[in-house]
Amino acid sequence: MPKNKLVDFRAVREAVTMEHVLSHYGLLDKMKRSGDSLSGCCPIHKGSNPTQFRVSLSKNLWNCFSECKHGGNVVDFISRMEDVSAYGAALKAIEWFKLDPDRVYAEGEGADEPRSSNEAPARPKSAQPSPVVEVKPEGNAPNPPLKFRLDKLQREHPYLTERGLTLETLVDFGVGFCAKGMMAGRIAIPIHNPDGQVVAYAGRHVGEPPEGTPKYKLPPGFRKSLELFNLDRARKESGPLIVVEGFFDAMNLHQLGHRKVVALMGSSLSPAQEDLIRRHTDQHSQILVMLDADAAGRSARDEIAARLAKFAFVRIHVFAKEDQQPEHLTAEQLAEVFA
Ligand SMILES: [Zn+2]
Repeated sequence: MPKNKLVDFRAVREAVTMEHVLSHYGLLDKMKRSGDSLSGCCPIHKGSNPTQFRVSLSKNLWNCFSECKHGGNVVDFISRMEDVSAYGAALKAIEWFKLDPDRVYAEGEGADEPRSSNEAPARPKSAQPSPVVEVKPEGNAPNPPLKFRLDKLQREHPYLTERGLTLETLVDFGVGFCAKGMMAGRIAIPIHNPDGQVVAYAGRHVGEPPEGTPKYKLPPGFRKSLELFNLDRARKESGPLIVVEGFFDAMNLHQLGHRKVVALMGSSLSPAQEDLIRRHTDQHSQILVMLDADAAGRSARDEIAARLAKFAFVRIHVFAKEDQQPEHLTAEQLAEVFA
């Protein structure tokens, strides 16, 4: 698909119903139907009041009367759920619902992303114009603690066994397979802030995801660049701080007894993450940067180490082979790293 292809938002809004979208998220069955409307808990702010979120089927609009104080059309809804621009949301809808490219792409290319899905001509018979998508504030406002917990996570799942995690580790990290809700069909991994409050769940696709499906699903609005996975517990441990890329790397090292480990949740170190490490170390601290041996990890590790070296002793672990990563280290190999 060409970059920045113009999207006909009106065609997308007309081709996709709120029922399609709710069903895509596995939420349609959870809504109460009454005449022309659906009502239920707001999936955007994850409310628990079942009357606060409402959908008008004939108008194809939704509204949250609680925290979101917001409503809109199908594109706005996807934009909120996925934390992407209206343009990004329209592209997702086109892909998910296999919309006819001849209908949903407008002529021409290279336009700027529109700020909202309403900059395209409005739907003629729409009784009320839907509100403009809010622009998310920038800055480092912290991720708010979640007001709910995913319960009934299944600890014993073949995928988790296959990845070498013991039941004890899974219980320790609160990780398990999720059968219902937004993370349905995924492995849910709680992410805590440094105070130990859960700020998000990451949903890992079981196995290799098909083309177009993300490996990890994160809640809309959650900013992973503000957190370090496992910092809440690692900061209480002694010894060198090990910095790895992924959740499973961190869980494996923890399982092998190296509990002072944090994961970047990617192969880059954000300024906020750098600051978190700075605040939880001093000039006598040792940091071991242990990124994957793939191209992304190799290109990131020197820069990350240089930034951390401004305030601590930093060592880089270099794997011998390109397909190696901390998740696959055995106890013996890890002992060698520290020998
Ligand atoms: Zn809401």
